[in-house]
Amino acid sequence: MRKGKTFIVSGPSGVGKSTVLNALLQKRKDVYFSVSATTRPPRTGEEDHVHYHFIDVDTFREWIVKDEFLEYAEYVGNFYGTPKKYVDAAMEEGRDVILDIEIQGAIQVVSKRPDTVRIFIAPPSWDELERRLTERGTDTEEKIQKRLLRAKVEFQTAHTYDYFVINDTVENAVQELDAIMTAEHCKPQERMEIISGQ
Ligand code: ADP
Ligand code: 5GP
Repeated sequence: MRKGKTFIVSGPSGVGKSTVLNALLQKRKDVYFSVSATTRPPRTGEEDHVHYHFIDVDTFREWIVKDEFLEYAEYVGNFYGTPKKYVDAAMEEGRDVILDIEIQGAIQVVSKRPDTVRIFIAPPSWDELERRLTERGTDTEEKIQKRLLRAKVEFQTAHTYDYFVINDTVENAVQELDAIMTAEHCKPQERMEIISGQ
């Protein structure tokens, strides 16, 4: 059976990760998108258990103690974490898994699972990033400035990722992500059963 691979997608808040990943998931229906837990309040239109598992800080702490997270981190005043059990179940079914997580979480996952593929998504410019964050209309001006500051720090780690995708248009970004996922399954180590069977 084809083995599932884990792909981390990181990038500044507002760059378009959710938008691009939603479009990618329309193309790759077999992929499992990991739904994170967060203590951040839901935005308009966000549904519990679909976009995030929205939980309070006490529950988040309880999940940490019970070792429920593959990774977790604090981001601009809230906690975010990846529940381990759904990721493991999807991998066991041979499905690819996508984690939309920030850089501290990405480091934790790679230290536990070194074969994870890391993809950084960047905006075409800082002005465009600020425009997207503002136009999304989900954050106060103060939060937007905090997220932009965080974005600059995150950008400095981009060179440590395996791939760098620029979200100029959603179509281009989806095409590149799709190509990366295909290419990762063409590596010889992914096809050892065929190679050693010759
Ligand atoms: P993230 O998940 O990275 O925080 P979102 O997916 O919420 O970002 O996108 C932030 C805003 O930018 C949204 O309003 C979205 O519609 C818009 N957006 C995303 N990708 C593009 C793009 N390629 N061109 C223009 N606007 C975009
Ligand atoms: P947002 O509040 O905009 O939905 O997400 C803020 C940041 O948290 C984004 O960079 C997103 O990738 C990251 N994030 C979402 N879920 C998780 C998670 O489970 N773990 C970690 N470490 N980061 C996450």
